[in-house]
Amino acid sequence: MRFLNTILNIIYPVSCIACGKNGSDFCLDCLLKAPGTDLEKNNWIYTLYDYRHPPIKSAIWFLKYKGKRNLAKIFAEIMYGRIIEELEDLSVFKNFREPILIPIPLAPARKRERGFNQAELLCKHIIKLDLAKTLRLENNILIKPKDTEHQAKLKDRNKRLKNIVGSFAIKNPEKIKGQNIILIDDVTTTGATLSEARKILKQAGAKKIIAFTIAH
Ligand SMILES: [Zn+2]
Repeated sequence: MRFLNTILNIIYPVSCIACGKNGSDFCLDCLLKAPGTDLEKNNWIYTLYDYRHPPIKSAIWFLKYKGKRNLAKIFAEIMYGRIIEELEDLSVFKNFREPILIPIPLAPARKRERGFNQAELLCKHIIKLDLAKTLRLENNILIKPKDTEHQAKLKDRNKRLKNIVGSFAIKNPEKIKGQNIILIDDVTTTGATLSEARKILKQAGAKKIIAFTIAH
């Protein structure tokens, strides 16, 4: 596979979406230049980057709407590092151990249209990196049976909350009873989607729930 990638790279060189340099969809130089965030929103949502930084915004756009799936792999590496770093403290001080990764789901129609769920893709790459098996992936517990309007189109928090409330459902609740959970999504804006997912997981018996996103 790596060999094939090299060949493909020669025929169709990939270039950085931010600076145009060949070799990677988002080069290390540009990643390092992107403003990080230490933000821990409401004490449970961790984000890697500031969404207002144009290269980050376009990276997420390319990932979601232009099918540049390699970007998920790049962000997963950074996200995994951050998760492990935070877990060092959380496991000691908050007894947050053996967490289950759960991606924010897409409704089936939206997933078919896009061909993949970017949050699930992030999770799968994170699990591949997790050789120590600190994390476990469950991508068939939190589901989104029906489609809702795009959150991005709704400006204020109340409208976003109304749009998302009741849109998630839980399958196999016994798998999460008493378990710690890490929710994964690409972007959080008002936190409405993550809060709704957290609420329904709690109702189903999950223990402690935190979330990681690429950007805020
Ligand atoms: Zn670059």
